[in-house]
Amino acid sequence: MNSTIQDIQDRFRHLRLAETASGLPALLRKAEQASWTYQEFLEELLAFELKRREEKNVERRLKWAKFPYHKTLDEFKIEEQKSVSTRQINQLRELNWLEQQYNLILLGPPGVGKTHIVIGLGLEAIYKGYKVAFLTMGELVHVLKTQEYLSKSKTLLKRIRESDLVIIDDLMYMAMDQREANLFFHLVNGLYEKSSIILTSNKGPDQWGELMGDQGITTAILDRLLHRVEVIQLNEASYRIKHRSTIFGDESVQT
Ligand code: ADP
Ligand code: MG
Repeated sequence: MNSTIQDIQDRFRHLRLAETASGLPALLRKAEQASWTYQEFLEELLAFELKRREEKNVERRLKWAKFPYHKTLDEFKIEEQKSVSTRQINQLRELNWLEQQYNLILLGPPGVGKTHIVIGLGLEAIYKGYKVAFLTMGELVHVLKTQEYLSKSKTLLKRIRESDLVIIDDLMYMAMDQREANLFFHLVNGLYEKSSIILTSNKGPDQWGELMGDQGITTAILDRLLHRVEVIQLNEASYRIKHRSTIFGDESVQT
């Protein structure tokens, strides 16, 4: 019983309980002040380690997801977007679709909140323990094309393949050539029935064929994407434009 706190901390670290090691002095002080029983002390110690580990895991998954910005579903003003209901958003938030490897497609013109909603869903997934990857279609095509010679792209692709949810934003802003469409097909095929994919696009699947060039590949991609899918159409006028900041007058709302 002659160990110093320092010794005990070292042994916790040796047992890979780093969080407990650093929190130990404060926990001991609290235990003395509140006269915890031995059992209470142990419970607090374990709860502390588990809570810190989970927080660190969430941080790690957030970093891995690479969201362009963080906006939650709570920040999404449902009254501004009449084409989705609170019930729909709440249902999506429950993540049953992710549990069952369903895909989601969000369609609508620019500024209606597609990216906001998918980031919000991505955050919910991360808090529930899922691995999420976010990237735009432009980034994805670049990564797919450079995987052979850029180790950064190779690492990124590995991250995408290991994710439970892959969010591909702005699917069809760019036309793909045949090679790109082929690479995209292989990725989608690899993720099929293992992970969920969320796609956002300003064009519907009926127009994707033109942009992918090859009808055969388009059919194969759509086949996998649309097999188990929920499509959400957002039609309300652009939130960006409704709430644009203007230099003429005070009624403007900053977005
Ligand atoms: P899209 O991806 O459909 O082009 P975004 O999701 O990027 O549109 O939305 C544009 C901006 O407007 C973002 O800053 C987003 O947070 C905001 N926005 C859009 N719709 C809403 C909404 N219903 N409530 C709150 N903010 C919104
Ligand atoms: Mg967007």
